[in-house]
Amino acid sequence: MAAQKEIRLIIKRQAGPESSSYTEEFAIPYQPNMNVTAALMEIRKNPINAAGKKTEPVIWESVCLEEVCGSCSMLINGKPRQACAALIDNLSQPIHLAPLSTFPLVRDLMVDREQLFDALKKVHAWIEIDGIFDLGSGPRMPERTRKWAYELSKCMTCGCCAEACPNVNAKSNFMGPASISQVRLFNAHPTGEMSKEVRLSEIMKSGGITSCGNSQNCVEVCPKSIPLTTSIADLNRKTTIQSFKNMLGSF
Ligand code: SF4
Repeated sequence: MAAQKEIRLIIKRQAGPESSSYTEEFAIPYQPNMNVTAALMEIRKNPINAAGKKTEPVIWESVCLEEVCGSCSMLINGKPRQACAALIDNLSQPIHLAPLSTFPLVRDLMVDREQLFDALKKVHAWIEIDGIFDLGSGPRMPERTRKWAYELSKCMTCGCCAEACPNVNAKSNFMGPASISQVRLFNAHPTGEMSKEVRLSEIMKSGGITSCGNSQNCVEVCPKSIPLTTSIADLNRKTTIQSFKNMLGSF
């Protein structure tokens, strides 16, 4: 009888932020068209490791299962990406899974991405609307702006760009490329433009755009192909202009 095809995974595990990490190998039956999420679900159903020993189910985070929420981001064979979008058939085996290293660990493959959301709050990544009465449809965005702004709006705060950036680490307060790119998006909006100086001044502070070392890793790993380096270059110009304005305004 032909041996049953299997999928082998080596998973970096850690019970909590203060615990020691270790790796555990799993072998699960192969099914065509599985993604990493499906493999993790198989392990959860029957948490027995490759040595045949019963173990704790592997913890990871996932919500949308369609590369929209970014919550299942992890290192898959060393690359930051989403478990839901990583097809087993396209991965070399054994498949190595590890948590993103830039963010505080919660458990196993789950990390706390709160710093990304805090950065979005800092840069005012929203459009002010009153909400008391119907404001109507608002001004239209020129089509040529809408085209690139739509690309920036695809950001799912997955954290892959922060993971790949050498300047986002425990020793730095750099907010990372994603929130900087959102400043460009919201400043391009005809209504959002009214708060553009608030956003620019935030990225001109410590931990903002001047902490970018221009490694350009972010644009390489972004699963949504967001032109992050174009955003950073654009905002480098705009923050320079803003700093001259601030200087002239202070005389
Ligand atoms: Fe993820 Fe791309 Fe957004 Fe960075 S810019 S958080 S890599 S979607």
